[in-house]
Amino acid sequence: MDFRLSEEQEALRESVRDFAREVVAPAIAEHYEQHTFPYEIVRQMGKMGLFGLPFPEEHGGMGGDYFALCLALEELARVDSSVAITLEAAVSLGAMPIYRFGTDEQKAQWLPKLLSGEALAGFGLTEPGTGSDAGGTQTRAVLDGDEWVINGSKAFITNSGTDITSLVTVTAVTGTKPDGSKELSSIIVPSGTPGFTVAPGYSKVGWTASDTHELTFDDCRVPAANLLGQRGRGFAQFLRTLDEGRIAIAALAVGLAQGCVDESIKYAKERHAFGQPIGNYQAIQFKIADMELKAHTARLAYYDAAARMLAGEPFKRQAAIAKLHASTIAVDNAREATQIHGGYGFMNEYPVARFWRDAKILEIGEGTSEVQRMVIARDLGI
Ligand SMILES: Cc1cc2nc3c(=O)[nH]c(=O)nc-3n(C[C@H](O)[C@H](O)[C@H](O)COP(=O)(O)OP(=O)(O)OC[C@H]3O[C@@H](n4cnc5c(N)ncnc54)[C@H](O)[C@@H]3O)c2cc1C
Repeated sequence: MDFRLSEEQEALRESVRDFAREVVAPAIAEHYEQHTFPYEIVRQMGKMGLFGLPFPEEHGGMGGDYFALCLALEELARVDSSVAITLEAAVSLGAMPIYRFGTDEQKAQWLPKLLSGEALAGFGLTEPGTGSDAGGTQTRAVLDGDEWVINGSKAFITNSGTDITSLVTVTAVTGTKPDGSKELSSIIVPSGTPGFTVAPGYSKVGWTASDTHELTFDDCRVPAANLLGQRGRGFAQFLRTLDEGRIAIAALAVGLAQGCVDESIKYAKERHAFGQPIGNYQAIQFKIADMELKAHTARLAYYDAAARMLAGEPFKRQAAIAKLHASTIAVDNAREATQIHGGYGFMNEYPVARFWRDAKILEIGEGTSEVQRMVIARDLGI
């Protein structure tokens, strides 16, 4: 068992780390304050190949794997989570379902631009009335000749309304199964389709430089060929999508937690109180040691989940553990990093203020902490 990275993985991590420090760090605070989407940063991430990391070269990808994506997400989130979630959602929720479940035509039509970062895609599962309980989906799609007619709405959909968003895949009820339960299917809705309306962006507590919208579908017609994979497989598709996505969110949370350590060490050396740097006090040292401990163990948890997934082994429980643990410790570290910064930690000019605002959503998005516990308990046979 060896958790050390290969030379190639180390090189990727270093190049993303440099990019995050040199390109993202100087520019992101203003986007965060102004709630603007960082198109230029996203364009450069595309040029670096980050959007194509876990996809084969035949589709325009980089030929890497899902763990490579996680390493990139960790390094981005160490500096900023808005940029990291933009990449996470674009790959894991946007392009991956099309790659995994799409027809050859769908892949040829959508993947090249999504994998180069020239276009973004969203995945619409959550609705205004239901999130954790995806079986409560109300959005309906009815086949009318050779078109699906979609009616309903989706809430909190990432990357769904940028200038470069090309599509959103939505889950919809397409019928009733023989056992009386809802038949759920996934359907690709291209941006600009008549009847598909993107509401103005939400006013969010954190991730303010990322793109999140409510979507409505009012007799929205798309070709029957836009069905993603088999009819009635929507539930299985999004369970697979979310299981993988949890490893990526865990990596993002570890990045935020490590960023809190970085900033706290820096500040503890600079800030003086009672005649010496606050880092000389054991109370501060122990806080930072505990933060490092948490980031390190959470990293091992997501490495383990990713290793199992890439080996083709069951990984549902390990992904849920990694996501639950990493999001919990990210909130812990953000709280302690803010504490170490004293009053300055409450000022938006300090990165830890952004970390604090960005941490909480990690316990909610892609399955709440309660849902992760449900997944773990169910997998234990309880
Ligand atoms: C910024 C942002 C971006 C997002 N991006 C996307 C996206 O791109 N695509 C997408 O589809 N969704 C997205 N979401 C939605 C997100 O995944 C949901 O908010 C999340 O799954 C929780 O659903 P909910 O908000 O409906 O909460 P609810 O499901 O209403 O839950 C409310 C509370 O009840 C708890 N709860 C629910 N059921 C149980 C139970 N059985 N036992 C115990 N407790 C329970 C929950 O844990 C939670 O604490 C995003 C959300 C945000 C805020």
